[in-house]
Amino acid sequence: MNYHYRGSEWLRHRLSELSRLEGYTRPERLQGSQNQPESILRMDTNENLALPLEFVRAVMYEVVEDVDPRLYPEQQDELRSRIASYLGLSKDNIVIGDGSDQLIDLALVAFGYGHKSITLRPTFTFYRDRCLMHGIEVEEVMLNDNDGFSFSSDAIVKSGADICYICSPNNPTGNQFPRDTMLDVIERFDGLIMVDEAYAEFAGYSLKDLAVKRDNLMIFRTFSKAFGLAGARVGYAIACKEMMDIFNRVIQYPYAVSSISINAAISILKRLEQVKRVIEGVKAEREWLYRELGMLGLKAFRSDANFILFDVDEHEGVYRRLKEEGILVRRIGQIGGYRGCLRVTVGTREMNERFLNALGRACYNLQQ
Ligand code: PMP
Repeated sequence: MNYHYRGSEWLRHRLSELSRLEGYTRPERLQGSQNQPESILRMDTNENLALPLEFVRAVMYEVVEDVDPRLYPEQQDELRSRIASYLGLSKDNIVIGDGSDQLIDLALVAFGYGHKSITLRPTFTFYRDRCLMHGIEVEEVMLNDNDGFSFSSDAIVKSGADICYICSPNNPTGNQFPRDTMLDVIERFDGLIMVDEAYAEFAGYSLKDLAVKRDNLMIFRTFSKAFGLAGARVGYAIACKEMMDIFNRVIQYPYAVSSISINAAISILKRLEQVKRVIEGVKAEREWLYRELGMLGLKAFRSDANFILFDVDEHEGVYRRLKEEGILVRRIGQIGGYRGCLRVTVGTREMNERFLNALGRACYNLQQ
């Protein structure tokens, strides 16, 4: 859209600069999903579809009873303490935010100006989008598709960049990078390192314990994935006390997260054992789905998250056919030598079976 503003030159210039950016493309939604929500499978945005809706709703009802929305939120510190005990850290190592998106963005606002940043490709596109929005130069290191999506720490360390963002497990490839590679980057990179661990609960390890000891490492986590609260918008960052003190006092807004959302996160943490059982179920289901994708003759990639990337070649056609059957997955497209990749969220066995059956039909029909 062209912006026709007749005001000052600088504002016109800035608006035209911004209007050229791509911004976030919202995932497609299907008509009629309001009336028959159960017939539509939204396997495209990596929420925790295996956490029963009744369970999360019960949490929300309890919260609504407890909260006085006339008042500004005051439970921030309680949530920070609860997150800290969940992670075995101190509350002083935690800042909460309006989704981890907001915290990633705020880190760029606070530290990015005039600096160069580096990340991997493909990765969570939000990071690059926000860098471009803030006028921060961003270099991308291509993941090596011959080798389970790896990267060389030298490419990052020797880039001369000041800020490094690594998503691990990586969205959309699903793999968590080896701890040794991460430790090597963290040891040698001269600048701020942001590690996005949105999917850590489904993965093998976390760098949280290191983040509290280093002065240049920030970890970003969220309640949107494993904890099933994507709609509540609660994320948090983990770093050393000095960094988090500045973040809490100066960088973060006074009331970034609503009292309902803060209380929802507190409540869900009180039910940690139930959530953990569901997470274990998703991990088992992920292995099953991975094998089944292979049995369909497709190249699927091992995942440490709650989604799987797979190559179908003609991804637009397969995407369309799945959509016709009420199943939404994410179109990723070409990654290196893999010509047409899709990404699917791991759901319950019932959802996964419905998805696999539809996928089998879509691939078969396209071959005819
Ligand atoms: N990081 C990654 C890697 C993600 O995939 C997402 C959501 N798609 C987010 C962060 C955003 O998390 P939140 O809902 O906490 O803003």
